[in-house]
Amino acid sequence: MIYFDHNATAPVMREAREAWLHVTEHLDGNPSSMHRAGSRAAVALATAREKLAALLGCHPLDLIWTSGATEANNMVLHHFARKLGAAGEVWVSAIEHPCVDDSSKHYFGKRAKTIPVTRDGVVDLDWLTAELADARPGLVAIMAANNETGVIQPWREAMAICHSYKVPFFTDAVQFIGKMPCKGLGDCDYVSGAAHKFGGPRGVGFLKIPHRSQLTPLLHGGKQEGGRRAGTENVATIAALVAALEARERQMARNEHLLRKLWRDNFEAQFLRALPGASIIGQNVPRLWNTVSALMPEGDRKLQWVIRLDKAGFAVSTGSACTTGKEEPSHVLSAMGYKSAHAVRAVRMSAGWETTEADWDALLKAVVKVHAEMQHKG
Ligand code: PLP
Repeated sequence: MIYFDHNATAPVMREAREAWLHVTEHLDGNPSSMHRAGSRAAVALATAREKLAALLGCHPLDLIWTSGATEANNMVLHHFARKLGAAGEVWVSAIEHPCVDDSSKHYFGKRAKTIPVTRDGVVDLDWLTAELADARPGLVAIMAANNETGVIQPWREAMAICHSYKVPFFTDAVQFIGKMPCKGLGDCDYVSGAAHKFGGPRGVGFLKIPHRSQLTPLLHGGKQEGGRRAGTENVATIAALVAALEARERQMARNEHLLRKLWRDNFEAQFLRALPGASIIGQNVPRLWNTVSALMPEGDRKLQWVIRLDKAGFAVSTGSACTTGKEEPSHVLSAMGYKSAHAVRAVRMSAGWETTEADWDALLKAVVKVHAEMQHKG
């Protein structure tokens, strides 16, 4: 199976496995325990915190380890719901992952206002600037890169606009971290990340919060993480998260992502030539180097594509949640102005660091073959 669904989850890389194994075999104390085994685990935890803080550009104590980004994102919205009270408002981009979108609606209902995006799937900064001239939300949430389209959001500019009005800025950087250099993210007030998108294990992530600020905990029952998140820290997965991110940052320092972008761009050019009527979503704006979000030719259904490519040995995705087996149009594509008739043709192919040029070539051949089969069957 050639795997093109890295935006869903990525395989665990060697560096992460080794870090996990080292902690599991040698540092099996609870970091909250007073004995030496506990202290050794606590040192490993503190070291991981320092390393991640150095990569993001923040203070180590601004970081809270979590079970993943869903928890981290819920923590932010929960905190602001408590802090802002019944009149508080949050502004959330129209293309957020459901764990930001749904939790903002859960905690704020109609007081969660939607920030629109352009046809290319980029958050509308003119709208943000104009609205902030008249009103002040308690929080603005704009992701760093979109999981379905790969479109990189202008999070630096959005943060600067928010800060000029003293409005806290939150970015879900889950898809950005480990694919693009994460330097500067520490300047955002709130940042979430998850290891399993860049070669770390599943079930571990983090939340960065403003320096010396309080966070109303979501989980109670322990004083871990400065009383901000109860529960024994999983030192092995945390060490693996950091090892994976450090390895990815080294690869980016060697510009290894630029070559991968070239392979993806070549694939797209050949794909568009081979499949008349197909198009690439967000092709005109900066995107992650690994993602292809394609609208397949008229009449093609995305689930058919996923199933047929799976049979041919390729794991791709519909891009949006498809838990019921029904082809629901994605909220991301709807926000970009695509009608449901178009949105149900969207297929996402997301490569990883280990994907080769030969893998892209093989995918192209399989896509052309499946397309011919589907045309033949009508
Ligand atoms: N945010 C984005 C942008 C994502 O793509 C995902 C996972 O798909 C999440 C949050 C949720 O992350 P986790 O699986 O760590 O809960």
